[in-house]
Amino acid sequence: MAKELGIAHEFHTPDEVTRLYPLVSLKGVVGALYTPDDGHVGPAMATQSLAIGACQRGAEINCHTKVVDFAQRPGGEWDVEIDKGTIAAGVVVNATGLRSDEIAALAGNFLPLVAIQLQHLVTEAIPEVADLETELPVLGGLDGSFYLRQELDGILTGVYEEKPVFWAIDGIPPPRLWSGHFARKPGARRKKRRRCPSPRARPRLGGDQEYQPSVAPPDAPPTPKA
Ligand SMILES: Cc1cc2nc3c(=O)[nH]c(=O)nc-3n(C[C@H](O)[C@H](O)[C@H](O)COP(=O)(O)OP(=O)(O)OC[C@H]3O[C@@H](n4cnc5c(N)ncnc54)[C@H](O)[C@@H]3O)c2cc1C
Repeated sequence: MAKELGIAHEFHTPDEVTRLYPLVSLKGVVGALYTPDDGHVGPAMATQSLAIGACQRGAEINCHTKVVDFAQRPGGEWDVEIDKGTIAAGVVVNATGLRSDEIAALAGNFLPLVAIQLQHLVTEAIPEVADLETELPVLGGLDGSFYLRQELDGILTGVYEEKPVFWAIDGIPPPRLWSGHFARKPGARRKKRRRCPSPRARPRLGGDQEYQPSVAPPDAPPTPKA
């Protein structure tokens, strides 16, 4: 796939894997695919950069503004109802992430999506990671379907579970903070942290992510009908 898409990639032997990723266990590893241009960005900074770029090209951004309904005019234009009034639009781009299906429904369209709970775990600082001179590459495993990358002097890891926890099948509630798989309540979290061996895990809240049914696991609940 990397070849087809023109993405730089190299196949490596286990010895070369150790050079690239000194902390990895080579048990069962016969080789690896390395994509040198892979990496990560801070989502907050990436979002701000895109927003600044859009404004420099004439976009107007209205923060804290909620779309509550749509009405289409006979000529095809849209009246987008927001919590502060109405905006006329020739074209509406629905980029509301987790709520894309709700927003599509307001305009009379059906977007089949399934929300799953997704979480990641971040460790405390690990001395062997802190001692490295270069940042570890992002490591993914196809067998277990996980990703792992350096986060400051620790490690961040997340998994794509075979049996994920589906969420809000009957409709997503208003935004709120929630705790999840790794720690159910703050008191329990503190107790677990005290018992964790080194390196200690710092449980992090994750979030929810929408999957279209075509990539959702086979036992995903049926998506709501249009
Ligand atoms: C725990 C976790 C870890 C992840 N890790 C990675 C990763 O390592 N790499 C990666 O590539 N992806 C990762 N993802 C996925 C990635 O975060 C999402 O795919 C991405 O943020 C989706 O971007 P988006 O712009 O489509 O939607 P969002 O970022 O969800 O943006 C949607 C926007 O629409 C707004 N909105 C919603 N409803 C309304 C309304 N009625 N009116 C007005 N605005 C509205 C929301 O406020 C929000 O600002 C992760 C996701 C989770 C939950």
